[in-house]
Amino acid sequence: MTGHSTRQDTGYEERLRAFTGRELRAATPAQDPVNQPMIRHWAEAMGDTNPVYTDAGSARATGRDGVVAPASMVQAWTMPGYAATVSPQAVRSGFDELVGLLAEGGYTSVVATDSEFSFLRELVPGDHVTVRETVESISEEKRTGLGAGRFVTTLKTYTDQHGETVATQRWRTLRFRPASAAAREEGPEGSPAAAREEGPEGSPEAARALRPRPAVNRDNAFFFDGTKRHRLLVQRCTACSLLRHPPGPCCPECNSFEWDTVEASGRGRVHGFVVNHHPRHPAFDFPMAVAVVALAEGTRLIAGLTGVAPEDVEIDMPVVLDWLDADPDLTLPVFRPAPTEAP
Ligand code: ZN
Repeated sequence: MTGHSTRQDTGYEERLRAFTGRELRAATPAQDPVNQPMIRHWAEAMGDTNPVYTDAGSARATGRDGVVAPASMVQAWTMPGYAATVSPQAVRSGFDELVGLLAEGGYTSVVATDSEFSFLRELVPGDHVTVRETVESISEEKRTGLGAGRFVTTLKTYTDQHGETVATQRWRTLRFRPASAAAREEGPEGSPAAAREEGPEGSPEAARALRPRPAVNRDNAFFFDGTKRHRLLVQRCTACSLLRHPPGPCCPECNSFEWDTVEASGRGRVHGFVVNHHPRHPAFDFPMAVAVVALAEGTRLIAGLTGVAPEDVEIDMPVVLDWLDADPDLTLPVFRPAPTEAP
């Protein structure tokens, strides 16, 4: 068995350990002091109608001196905003070095796993927040459903204009080798559990992450019930016979709520397509061709293409239906190039 474990000698472990306590972001003051307009926008965006954030009278009725900022907004005050895009190096100095060191060990993928806040006092307009971020810990290598990886926990400390700590945030990410890559390299491993659930070694069929689940509701359940039986169903208005997809409760032509379904022949053409390179979800192989397929029946649907290299996909190419039994709970229609007809 070849792999990264042999390359991760004790020197590598020591270099990772040496990062504990190191500063990833030097003390960085917020661009603006705590202020009412940002509080109002944030509360509106979150749908938080608590009047203590916007109405001084209501706030005083609760024993406060005036309006306060939502506690969980602390992160918003110190966000670098557009500056992070313009001059990213100015924002986090030690961060790139840590990312580089983790990449050296093969941990090139990242997923945030949890965020743990402690709030020590409420912020009020006029307060000025500063944040500093340090590395609290880097775990030993763990097996997870996403792949082997290390949990990196950083500690953000938020202080006010007097240097008093107002909040802390433990921010944990999993830096991992994608299970799909690991499976190709070292054989099947891992379980499809979420990253925070450190699973034991999994079975071969659980070699990679599960595909995202479709959002099934009462309008589209028939479609996914059909796919489980390898039947591609198209919704049809029983009043005017119009076919429609994606499914919906009401006919866009005659407004009737009455409908049934017809089974598609499975023949179609590539109406348009994209080749997806990023972001790399571990359930998929990349690059990945995804098409809008125009069915012979006239409706269109979005589906993956199989049996064809992404660079060989062409607009208007004839395709036929195939089925992807992704896992026991998910079957999806995919399309492959239609066999060329005999002369
Ligand atoms: Zn209709």
